[in-house]
Amino acid sequence: MDGGDSVAMMTYFQEMQAANHNFFHSQWLDAEGRLKDVLWVDARSRAAYEEFGDVVCFDATYLTNPNDLPFVNFVGVNHHGQSILLGCALVSHEDCDTYRWVFRQWLHCMNDTPPKAILTDQAASMRKPLEEVMPTSQHRWCIWHIMYQYLKVELKKVVYESITVMEFENRWNALIVEYKLQNNDWLCDLYLERHMWVSAFMIHYFWVGMKTTQRVESINSFFDGFLTRNTKLYEFPQKYAAAMDKRVGDETDADAKCSKYIRRLVSGFSVEAVFQKIYTDTKFQEVQNECTRMMFSYPREEIQVSDTLIQYLIEDRVWVVPEGKSEDVITDRKMFYSATFNTETKVICCDCRKFETSGIICRHIIRILEHK
Ligand SMILES: [Zn+2]
Repeated sequence: MDGGDSVAMMTYFQEMQAANHNFFHSQWLDAEGRLKDVLWVDARSRAAYEEFGDVVCFDATYLTNPNDLPFVNFVGVNHHGQSILLGCALVSHEDCDTYRWVFRQWLHCMNDTPPKAILTDQAASMRKPLEEVMPTSQHRWCIWHIMYQYLKVELKKVVYESITVMEFENRWNALIVEYKLQNNDWLCDLYLERHMWVSAFMIHYFWVGMKTTQRVESINSFFDGFLTRNTKLYEFPQKYAAAMDKRVGDETDADAKCSKYIRRLVSGFSVEAVFQKIYTDTKFQEVQNECTRMMFSYPREEIQVSDTLIQYLIEDRVWVVPEGKSEDVITDRKMFYSATFNTETKVICCDCRKFETSGIICRHIIRILEHK
């Protein structure tokens, strides 16, 4: 960093710390004592992490400024489904040493409480440091980076429509044979690392519904309008602060809207009324969406597995828009899900794992609840 730049950053940090002693910042100097890497976390982000720290997306793709310092972000999602910033850093290198330092400082700032799960891109320089610094966090690759290559449509089908690992393996093998891709190194490597990105391997973990870099895309819009490639480093703190204020305002507005306005029920299902009371408006809309789609799912078979356990086979329809076509050529296909209902504990578990992975009760479970 140039002299004026590091002074501007340090001044900003001092002001922030004076205003709130929970503001965290850390810097790494090179052998000559020059500022190399900086990481900082707002007091508000530290508080938000306590509530919304289950799943974190770590992104290093946001604009590289003219000084060639990547701007890396820790991003989470709040109860309104909005992206929230959980810390950021300007780094001098994209190597293991630098990321190790970033992860260590950030974790230290968050009271050494790692997230349950973390999403990153495929960079090898992040993988090892993450394993070392946060060994208990489930690490997942952002699928968008993987899908953004050829065979996109076919791969998407294999990945998203396979509920079980077995299903994925069968479809993958069929795809490889069909397109004669046995010698494709890229796909072979991806397959070896399938536990890092295929949904079927991830259904036991809570992801707040995060699958792709959707969070990162919206964190880009977080800073868009405030930061550009041409933002000088000395201007950076003010622009960053303005972006943060805007986001705080968005959350306050959403909170106010939720307390004033109650969305009307669309179905007669008792489940819907329960979530109307306990979820925010955005999350409640996701439940309503399931209620609406429930009209298309039917229990086809009911098997008494034991005295207290009933298994249901539920027929459902999924809609598919063929790649590159408009929405009026949507086709639908039948799919079957299996769900179990424990008559004693009243616990229902569905194959699709929507509740476990995103916190939204699925239409198959709603169907059984209504049925019983
Ligand atoms: Zn389900």
